[in-house]
Formats: sequence, C-alpha cells, structure tokens
Amino acid sequence: MTLKLDINKIRHDFPILEQSINGKKLVYFDNAATTQKPSVVIEALKNYYEGYNANIHRGIHHLAEKATAAFEATRKTVKSFLNANSIEEIIFTYGTTDSINLVAGTYGRKFINAGDEIIISTLEHHSNIVPWQMLCEEKGCILKIIPINDEGEIILEEYEKLLSPKTKFVSVVHVSNALGTINPIKTIIDKAHAVGAKVLIDGAQASSHLDIDVQALDVDFYALSAHKLFGPTGMGVLYGKKELLEAMPPYRGGGEMIKEVTFEKTTYADLPYKFEAGTPNIADVVAFKFALDYIQNIGKTNIAAYENELLAYATEKLESIEGLTVIGKAKEKVSVISFVLEGIHPQDIGIILDQQGIAVRTGHHCTQPLMQRLGIPGTARASFSVYNTFEEIDALVAGILKVKKLLS
Ligand SMILES: *Cc1c(COP(=O)(O)O)cnc(C)c1O
Repeated sequence: MTLKLDINKIRHDFPILEQSINGKKLVYFDNAATTQKPSVVIEALKNYYEGYNANIHRGIHHLAEKATAAFEATRKTVKSFLNANSIEEIIFTYGTTDSINLVAGTYGRKFINAGDEIIISTLEHHSNIVPWQMLCEEKGCILKIIPINDEGEIILEEYEKLLSPKTKFVSVVHVSNALGTINPIKTIIDKAHAVGAKVLIDGAQASSHLDIDVQALDVDFYALSAHKLFGPTGMGVLYGKKELLEAMPPYRGGGEMIKEVTFEKTTYADLPYKFEAGTPNIADVVAFKFALDYIQNIGKTNIAAYENELLAYATEKLESIEGLTVIGKAKEKVSVISFVLEGIHPQDIGIILDQQGIAVRTGHHCTQPLMQRLGIPGTARASFSVYNTFEEIDALVAGILKVKKLLS
C-alpha cells in the first residue's frame, strides 16, 4: 500500500500551476515534453546566482569551492538515483539527445565498423534514431529496426531474429514518449549481451515514472534529461559503465577535459571530466539535485502509484467518448495517453483545448517513423505528472466533447 499523497500541497510547490490561460484555470498535461519546476528548484537557481556563482574545479577562492561542491553534490545524488557503482560513471551532458550523440560519436565511431549492425526499435524518439543513422552513413554500419504490434509493444520474437554476432549495439527507449509503452528492457539487455552487443537505454521518459537501477539492469549506457524530472532544461546525464567510458575517446575537446596540453600532444582528464569539456551548465546541474531530492521526498513508488490511478481513470473516461481511439494499448504503460478523434485533425484538438486552458501536445511527438507504422499523421497526447488531478481529467473530457461539438 502506498502513502496517500496530498496533491494540493504538491500543487502548491509548483508556482506556474496557479495561473489561468484564456480565462480558464491552467490544466498542464504536457509533462512528457517537459515537467514544471517546483519552488525548491527555482530557488536553487536564484541562490546559486545570488550567492556563489563561480567557475568550478580550478578556482581556489571561496565561491569557486562552494560552486564546485554543489556541482559535485549533484553527481553523488544522480549516482544514487540510478544506483551507479561510482561517480566516475555519471557524465553531465546537455540532455538525452546530447548523451546519445556522445555515445554514437565516441563509442560508435571507435568500435562500430562497416557491416556491423545496430538495432533500435520502431518506438524510438528521433534523438535515438538520427545519431545512429549519422554513424551508419559515416561508417557503413547497418541499422535494424525492431517491429511493434498494434498495441504499441515491441515484438520480442522479432528482436531475437535480428540479433546475431554482427549486432554490435542495441539502443532502445525505456518508455515511449508517444504511447507510454514500458519496454521489457531487462530482457532486451540480456539478449543483446548474449550476442556480445552493448546496450544504451533512452530513459528520458522512464526516469520520471520508474525506479532505475543500472546495476540490476546491467545496462551499458543510460541517458536522461533533467527537464523531464522537475529539473532545468539543457542539462542531462549519461550513465556509462566505467570500463566502457575509459575505453572511449573523448567527445568534445577543450578546457576541463584535459590533463596536460602541449602543441605536440594532449593527455585527457580522468572520468568523468574527460567527457565534460568547457564550462558546464553549472547552475542547472546544481539545481537538478534539488529536483531529485524533491522526487525522493515524495517517493517514486508513491508518484508512480498515483500516476497509474490517473492513467486508469483517464483511459476509462476517454474510451467512453464516441469516435475517440486511444493509440497505444500496451499492457505495461506509464501515464501517457495518446488519442485521435474520428474526422478531426490532432492539431485542431490541441487548439480548441488550449482555448479552454488545457495544454496537451499534438503531432508526431518526434516519432515520425512510429506514426508512419501506425498509419496516422499524429495524435493528441495528454501526459500526467504527480501534480495533476482527477478534476483536471474531467476538464479534459469536457474539452474533448467541446472539440467534437465544434468540429463534427
Ligand atoms: C524528450 C525525449 C528525448 C529527448 O530529450 P531532450 O531533452 O530533448 O534531449 C529523447 N527520448 C525520449 C523518449 C524523450 O521523451
């Protein structure tokens, strides 16, 4: 049994939710695109810039030491959030996209060659497609795609058929941002390892809903974005197994990632700094710790349990609307619900809902190949976070009925 959460109190932690849009109380259902930020995160940014803004690591003055300590404190918190083995395995990046590009651009470039195969799935976000296509264009490797069934689930038997000694890398999304599907990543990882392939999991969507234990998963790389976890934009994480990160060449060259530079030769810094060239996003990294602590205080299990209640309620309500089809009916889902309305373009749904103060996302959700597989141009997507309520779902239902009334 999970704790009963005080949702009103939680809502109070998110100042942005208190506003009205078009004269209506804001209903924010675009959490899969980015989550809102609690006051503790906003305050952390302010406190950093007002109190101890300084460049990190090389300074010996008081502010630099304070900033460095706060920056590195986040690394420790991320390490325990993911249950990584050491802080050297936690690389700060600009987000999931950047993390995946880092792996494709360094591990991929060094260890994947012409004729080698990389496997991704039909459910991937563009950021887990394009970097691998770019690599294959450069190196002559081959991209293979795991198909899905009509429910939006990966077909594991088809995945197994794609695996062979030629498979060098598997890169799969943990949770689909477009449909909410939770992939069986432990099975996917184990089967890839059985043929000697390495695995990256795109955790951008999963990390706000599910517990993640990189050691239990035995995953090689795990990518996430702070902004989908109540943290700032433009900051993310790449987890990588230490021995792999050590074997990889650096990504960007510049300050901070070096040990010694001469015009003849440069030696690189130890992990994790080898992958953190230049002055990083210090304030955002510092503030991300507060987002993770905030989640920790409520409890991931409590958050997931409440979000699942919202999902069940919304699914039942939406499915009872005539002409509405829920897209993505996986047995294992997080609180993301995509839908289409017969004869109405998803964009028109979004516009009319916005007039009622309801923020949903419409379109292809950066998953164009998935939309092509489903045979639709896009969907309307409502995605819930812990600060959303059953009343807001009722407002969505009323909003959709209004869309139907106006457009059909
Ligand atoms: C949001 C998202 C991304 C991209 O994250 P950025 O923060 O834009 O780099 C990648 N994959 C999934 C599943 C996402 O939801």
